[in-house]
Amino acid sequence: MHNKSIAELAKGLRSGEFSSLELTTAFLDRIKRHTGLNAYITVAEELALEQAKAADARLAKGSAELLTGIPIAQKDIFCTDGVKTSCGSKMLDNFIAPYDATVVEKFNDAGAVMLGKLNMDEFAMGSSNETSYYGAVKNPWDVNTVPGGSSGGSAAAVAARLAVCATGTDTGGSIRQPAALCGITGLKPTYGRVSRYGMIAYASSLDQGGPMTHSAEDAAIMLQTMAGFDDKDSTSVDLPVPDYSVGLSRSLEGLKIGLPKEFFGEGLNADVAATIEAAIEEYRKLGAKVTEVSMPSLRLAIPAYYVIAPAECSANLSRFDGVRFGYRCENPADLTDLYTRSRGEGFGKEVKRRILMGTYALSAGYYDAYYIKAQKIRRLISDDFKRALSEVDVMMGPVTPSTAFGIGEKIGNPIEMYLSDIYTIAINLAGVPAMSVPAGFAKGLPVGLQIIGNYFTEDRLLNIAHQYQQVTNWHQSAPKGFE
Ligand code: GLN
Repeated sequence: MHNKSIAELAKGLRSGEFSSLELTTAFLDRIKRHTGLNAYITVAEELALEQAKAADARLAKGSAELLTGIPIAQKDIFCTDGVKTSCGSKMLDNFIAPYDATVVEKFNDAGAVMLGKLNMDEFAMGSSNETSYYGAVKNPWDVNTVPGGSSGGSAAAVAARLAVCATGTDTGGSIRQPAALCGITGLKPTYGRVSRYGMIAYASSLDQGGPMTHSAEDAAIMLQTMAGFDDKDSTSVDLPVPDYSVGLSRSLEGLKIGLPKEFFGEGLNADVAATIEAAIEEYRKLGAKVTEVSMPSLRLAIPAYYVIAPAECSANLSRFDGVRFGYRCENPADLTDLYTRSRGEGFGKEVKRRILMGTYALSAGYYDAYYIKAQKIRRLISDDFKRALSEVDVMMGPVTPSTAFGIGEKIGNPIEMYLSDIYTIAINLAGVPAMSVPAGFAKGLPVGLQIIGNYFTEDRLLNIAHQYQQVTNWHQSAPKGFE
């Protein structure tokens, strides 16, 4: 059951081959057998069984939707009414949200079953899941390596078949990079496509939630439920949501693919490059035309991001002060002591580093030199994307410069860790959508192909990924021991 697609599971539920209760129990058993991966922060067993029974009743009545009775899991950044939402931090280890995030509410309305909350880097800051207060997540393809981050728990859980699919969030690569390192499909939608209401903010102008699944077909189903205008999120965009599944089978004859030459230069591992080239070759066989494009501002993406994201996070995280919610230090002497010790004890090292960087960049005297300058670079990067995407339909390249790196390998060197997002971060600065699609293996570890499209062309990206998945089966491979 755990290797089936959402559509196959929906069929099995309708034909009575199995019930949602049986399906949910099977996944809960797998989760218990594989706790060593540390993919879940909270397993919501009781709630899941209750939701499964309700789904079975709804299926029996004939009022079910495609996701009714399907066991999914939420990144622990989405607020869930009654179930702990930690955001991977000691600061929120005791936090139970009084409401559901819009995304969670939509899955609940569709009748999906929530198995639990997935591990992640603290406040989504990281590329390896090692900054989590709950400890590192292991990559099921090689447990000595990282699953990527910050949605590392989501990627590991889907890859290891501990959930049918999962949500992730992507501020600078956190859906695509872990999807690539764990051999699953991940989609970062256009900024504004999915509501951020109840999704704990890291860098509000970049954060975007999206699906993490085995296939593009499953991602289309998940996105259908997640996408849409939300009047509770002023940055959500009021555009109609297309039917993401209908266009999947479109032919790719004549598709114009641009390869940004900056994605294939120094720093890209040779095995990863060869795997990506093989994937591009598949697209040629499917009728696509491939040309080179240039993105001259790309090299400025990481420095600009590491001013803008910390600046926004320093403002967003100021609400965690030990007063209204979250961690509070013991026996504070006075108000200042309460603030400083609650924050000092509640936040981890990487989060503190970012708050300091951001506060510095926003302070009087430095604001123009750093923050304003970074915003100008952001504009240049967006212009690069607009220009390149007027010449071609989509761009393709690697998601990451290498396959999964070892646990502990980069955690002591923040700059090296930041560089692992070199191919993903610019996409968030521009706000365009992009996908990571399993494209093969290099020395036994998964490699992800990145597909980048114009604003609100998620349907096209899903179609392009789906066509590739019709002629390859990388997305169906399971790590040893998790088949
Ligand atoms: N790795 C990047 C960071 O640490 C991106 C994280 C994300 O997308 N949430 O900021």
